Amino acid sequence: MMRPCLGLEGVADTVWDVIILGAGPAGTIAAHQLATSGARTLLVDKRLFPRGKVCGACLNASALGVLKSVGLDGHLCELGGIRLDGLELRFAGRSARLNLPGGIALSRERLDVALVDLAVASGAVFLPQTAGLVGPIQADARRVALVQVDRAVAARARVVLVATGLGQVRFEGESPVKSRSTARSRIGAGCLVDNFPDVYHQGTVFMTVGRNGYVGLVRVEDGQLNVAAAFNKYHVKESGSPGAAANRILLEAGLAPVPALDNAAWQGTASLTRQTRPIAGERFFVLGDAAGYIEPFTGEGMAWAMASGQAIAPLVWRGIKCWEPSLSRTWVLLHRRLVTRRQYLCRALATLLHHPGLAHAAFELVARVPGVARLIIEQVNASAALPQTS
Ligand SMILES: Cc1cc2nc3c(=O)[nH]c(=O)nc-3n(C[C@H](O)[C@H](O)[C@H](O)COP(=O)(O)OP(=O)(O)OC[C@H]3O[C@@H](n4cnc5c(N)ncnc54)[C@H](O)[C@@H]3O)c2cc1C
Repeated sequence: MMRPCLGLEGVADTVWDVIILGAGPAGTIAAHQLATSGARTLLVDKRLFPRGKVCGACLNASALGVLKSVGLDGHLCELGGIRLDGLELRFAGRSARLNLPGGIALSRERLDVALVDLAVASGAVFLPQTAGLVGPIQADARRVALVQVDRAVAARARVVLVATGLGQVRFEGESPVKSRSTARSRIGAGCLVDNFPDVYHQGTVFMTVGRNGYVGLVRVEDGQLNVAAAFNKYHVKESGSPGAAANRILLEAGLAPVPALDNAAWQGTASLTRQTRPIAGERFFVLGDAAGYIEPFTGEGMAWAMASGQAIAPLVWRGIKCWEPSLSRTWVLLHRRLVTRRQYLCRALATLLHHPGLAHAAFELVARVPGVARLIIEQVNASAALPQTS
């Protein structure tokens, strides 16, 4: 279990340069960047770490590029990360195997602890099991309510970063930031299991597509199988449990079911496809999944989140020195170039997967013309170039 660097009372008396809500890939990379350059940085997360998180657990080449730039890439294999070389797509009993240009599978339990350690080693103060609510402006700073089970304090920061993942951005009182999901949005679910058929071999990501969603399976450290799914909203209810829902999709796609899924400890998510507006305002920025998300079929979410965590740092510094309204507009434009445009492909695939006929045609194309799949994979793995911000 990770221990807090300071107690709740210890963090209340300081005006922090930046308070970061959420210690996923977006929040921790931002905390590392800012603390490294000397900002007094408080990173809080409502969960106790290590913690599980619904995720396919695959770091693509773009995500590995960010991790390399912060010196973490070599550490991933020491943590038990497994190199990936192939993607096996399954649909209606047919399969297609595609080569991957690198990638590592590592559980979010391990990865996110390593990211928090990185932020703390850079000088950030970490406070787990503490939910943050963004408060009003108070004398050149924004108030943040920090809430633990039985206590709450108020802290202040020159800038607040909201990296709280999927769901509503929480403010004290009515939130000026709204996160809306689409009516057809799927929901996410995931778990880790120890017992599974040998067919799920190491080094390959298995992606199965069915009428009611898709399931991704990959071997991670310690011989475990990470399972992550995007289900149509009523599929779990109709199937009786997430395990039964996942096994129905595996069977329909022609892959071996995993009996251990029936009794696994599943976690769920809010609706996956969502838009957040606005993603910045006076002395706050929203980033990572909290700033908007598309269904995870291409498995790029961590790369987008980490690239955002890096890109926001220069803007936060400018806001710490002197807040100007133009900073909000700059983040909107930067985010559009860095993330929103890259989500177009993901959005197109998500739309296609909602239509069985189109999905079938696309699968045939990918199976018969490997060049098409190669192009998509190259696009997904291309590193997110950081635009200039100053
Ligand atoms: C089914 C599925 C499969 C996926 N597969 C992949 C994949 O294979 N590869 C990939 O790159 N991406 C994948 N993703 C996407 C990836 O998981 C996310 O994009 C990524 O985790 C986003 O990082 P983040 O830092 O924005 O948010 P998160 O990782 O969600 O972190 C947010 C953190 O904020 C904390 N928090 C929430 N509210 C508060 C609060 N009020 N105060 C303090 N803390 C708070 C949470 O506890 C959490 O720790 C997948 C997603 C799903 C749903």
